[in-house]
Amino acid sequence: MKINIIPENCIACGLCYLHAPDVFDYHDNGIVKLNNSDKLEEKYIFDDKIISAAKACPTAAIKIIKS
Ligand code: SF4
Repeated sequence: MKINIIPENCIACGLCYLHAPDVFDYHDNGIVKLNNSDKLEEKYIFDDKIISAAKACPTAAIKIIKS
């Protein structure tokens, strides 16, 4: 699976980190980033926690690309 984050949609609510703290992190201003990368899209091993984070995001700032 791939995760694509859309920082301009992020409202810095912190929910994604609660669901998947090993995947999501934040810039100093609270806007989402991937914790192991400065890219907006990365491959990850399938993990339900990532799906939960994407579903929890109130602004659709996290896209899951199943592959
Ligand atoms: S859940 Fe969505 S809006 Fe909230 S911090 Fe994460 S990416 Fe941003």
